[in-house]
Amino acid sequence: MYEFAVTPAITQLRRPGVIITEVEPESLGEELELAPNDRIVRVNGRPVRDYLDFRFQTAGETELTFQVKKPNGETLDIEFDRDEDEDFGLGFEQIVPRQCANECIFCFCKGNPEDARPSLFVRDEDIRLSFLYGNYTTLSSITEDEMKRIIEQRLSPQYVSVHATDLKTRAYLLGVDESRADISDKLERLLAADIELHAQVVLCPEINDGAILEKTLRDLAAHYPKVVSTAIVPVALTRYNTDERLTRVTPEFCRRTIRQVEKLQKEFRKKLGVTFAFMGDEIYLKAGAEIPSRRHYGNYPQIEDGVGMIRSFLNAFEKFLSEPPAVAGGLTRQLGNSDPRTHPVAHKPDNQPSANGQRTTGNGTFLTGEMFAPILRSQIDKYNALTGSRHAVLAVPNTYFGGDVSVAGLLTGKDFLAVRDLIDGDFAVIPKITIKSDEPIFLDGMSYDELKRQFPVPVYDVDIDGLIDMLQK
Ligand code: SF4
Repeated sequence: MYEFAVTPAITQLRRPGVIITEVEPESLGEELELAPNDRIVRVNGRPVRDYLDFRFQTAGETELTFQVKKPNGETLDIEFDRDEDEDFGLGFEQIVPRQCANECIFCFCKGNPEDARPSLFVRDEDIRLSFLYGNYTTLSSITEDEMKRIIEQRLSPQYVSVHATDLKTRAYLLGVDESRADISDKLERLLAADIELHAQVVLCPEINDGAILEKTLRDLAAHYPKVVSTAIVPVALTRYNTDERLTRVTPEFCRRTIRQVEKLQKEFRKKLGVTFAFMGDEIYLKAGAEIPSRRHYGNYPQIEDGVGMIRSFLNAFEKFLSEPPAVAGGLTRQLGNSDPRTHPVAHKPDNQPSANGQRTTGNGTFLTGEMFAPILRSQIDKYNALTGSRHAVLAVPNTYFGGDVSVAGLLTGKDFLAVRDLIDGDFAVIPKITIKSDEPIFLDGMSYDELKRQFPVPVYDVDIDGLIDMLQK
């Protein structure tokens, strides 16, 4: 049986099988008379723990037997053949993440206000989510079963929070003893099995910077290409992080870090042919330094960690601006029909520009975090100059978390409401990332509908691609 080291959701996790949530019409699943709430517990006699297991056990198999538990307790063995790669047309329950056994001194959970959404207090650390979504794990509480599973099912790449290869420092940062913090054997085993790793360093001034950082980067780079890349992201402290062991990241600290890491990057590029160690965008922005070029980031191996997002945005926006016909067409359409629809949500009747009795004119305000605002403003200004538009960009202070938090993704409903009187134009656009992906609420629990009700103009939500699409249309 699969073993989980630490988890409060143990009953749910230990229940055998994976629950079907959807069966597509006219699919193989429907032909097999499978239905939502059925649980597939075995495939060809092998136990199934979650949909990753299901994928693994069925891959390439054409002769199959499913053992299925029906909601009424009945157990069926369903034998069937399928064409190679024929889709089952089944949807499954989500993986319930297992939780970490660390007490990291910088853990974001400690930086939450007490009334934050309960999901913000979940300390997930799960190798399955690392493989599926690029979530970082520390590997410090990984079980033998999980190690075997990574290797057997080729759950590669894995994303590992290393923080420091100096053991004392790592243990101090993770808040665990050195024997738990020591993952050197585990890393060696994964690397020997050709599992690719991406590493992360959460950089804490006066703890894992300077010589410790240099050692960490050199130790990791020695394993390139199996250790594919390393992200260095600065610790972000809210006003609730009052741990005296932590020092806030300053512009001078960022400039010093850039000087130090750039030297190593040069060395890595010469030796390995790649930059290998990438600093988070916040480091450049806080330092007031230029964002590196497209070449620096290669294929953006750490974009999921927010590393290289600004470069990627700038390049996409500059490409968009360099295509005058699209811009001109977009302008004519946008101003001509006075309807700056953005996101599919914007087309829903309850989100129409006339919802509060106003019509739009094609000019609006883009709300974003204080860190990204100057970058977005510089691009929107160029767009305005090219097209004659008068869009505005508004930097929204994060009053909910406070402290050093200035990224767009952590803005809350209350933060947006606090600046509603500064909205210029006939509509407002907020970053899509501020809304929970499976439910229209913000991090502070305010519903998106509530925000729309309290805003003086219609509100739209877009991501970066959506923003460009919106301007193009
Ligand atoms: S690994 Fe550390 S930072 Fe991540 S959730 Fe656990 S305690 Fe928090």
